[in-house]
Amino acid sequence: MGPVVVDRSGVDALIEALAADGYVVVGPTERDGAIVLAELRCGAQLPDGIGVDTAPGHYRTVPRADGATFAHSAGPQSWKQFLHPPRQDLWSHADGHYVPATEPATRWAFLGVRGCDLAAIATLSAVLSLHTDVFVVAVGCTEPGALCFCASAGTGPAPGGGYDVALTELVDATGHWFLAEAGSDRGSDLLGRVPNRPATEGQVRQARDAVATAEANMGRSLPEVDVRELLRDNPDSPRWADVAQRCVACGNCTLVCPTCFCTTTEDVTDLDGAASRSQRWASCFERDFSFIHGGPIRKSVDSRYRQWLTHKLSTWHDQFGRSGCVGCGRCIAWCPVGIDITEEIGAINDQAGGRT
Ligand code: SF4
Ligand code: SF4
Repeated sequence: MGPVVVDRSGVDALIEALAADGYVVVGPTERDGAIVLAELRCGAQLPDGIGVDTAPGHYRTVPRADGATFAHSAGPQSWKQFLHPPRQDLWSHADGHYVPATEPATRWAFLGVRGCDLAAIATLSAVLSLHTDVFVVAVGCTEPGALCFCASAGTGPAPGGGYDVALTELVDATGHWFLAEAGSDRGSDLLGRVPNRPATEGQVRQARDAVATAEANMGRSLPEVDVRELLRDNPDSPRWADVAQRCVACGNCTLVCPTCFCTTTEDVTDLDGAASRSQRWASCFERDFSFIHGGPIRKSVDSRYRQWLTHKLSTWHDQFGRSGCVGCGRCIAWCPVGIDITEEIGAINDQAGGRT
């Protein structure tokens, strides 16, 4: 199937068709003053007319006069919470029986996945060897947030591969419409079941231009330098001590990051001898995260910030053959003191003599 045009009501129909196929549809909705990801039972839950205002350490929803549905950048949550939940039971033991925890398999359909998050899902799946069969409805960004740098991270704003349907949202004099493109047979089948009409060449060009404009208006960028080499070669940069003066080691950046995957395990026993073990998200900013006999290896905040940044953008390549940062900007918005990963890399580059 070639590109088609779907109206706003067609997106509602798309959600209904996915639910009818047995998927649990998850997508953006407004809750508690933020765009969160939650189960969608109908299209009315989508955040029509809600945008976001972001800056380092700052995130607010703002009304939009155009009624756009997906014109908001990444919120506090990512798809990680569904693929790699914050807490998971591993096993329990009672009366001499060991019982592995089992979770019923969920057929997820993710709606509104941006290029950065599509890359994050691929990264997380590769790192954790996840075997997921998520139906993905991606969205090409037509309006990046002030903190986005997916273009320089090489992950957006157009979604790369790995989606079933890709939508590009346009609001113009002709109305509120979406260019819809199938990326798989099941995506093509789904589009065939919602009201649509063939897209004209002009509409396809208009959608491509809107995404290209978004790329040109990206709020932030990484320095044009080999960041992997830069961080590998500067473990003694004075910037690590500088950032440690501001960083409160809260771990927010790792929790909101769509690719940070570290966990710890917790055991619980009771007086009857029953026991259980669970896994929960952890953060390399926790002092005891690197605890071995005798104490933690990374006692100082500067060593923990250096560990995080160098792992994400440098040694991640050695381990996993890719960067651990997709340029979503979440860690900048949700850092309580507004530490900006792009600014820190730029400063390390400047102090190293500027390789750009
Ligand atoms: S490090 Fe920051 S910008 Fe990069 S993927 Fe994680 S949250 Fe997004
Ligand atoms: S960089 Fe910001 S979000 Fe991350 S641990 Fe430090 S203060 Fe918290």
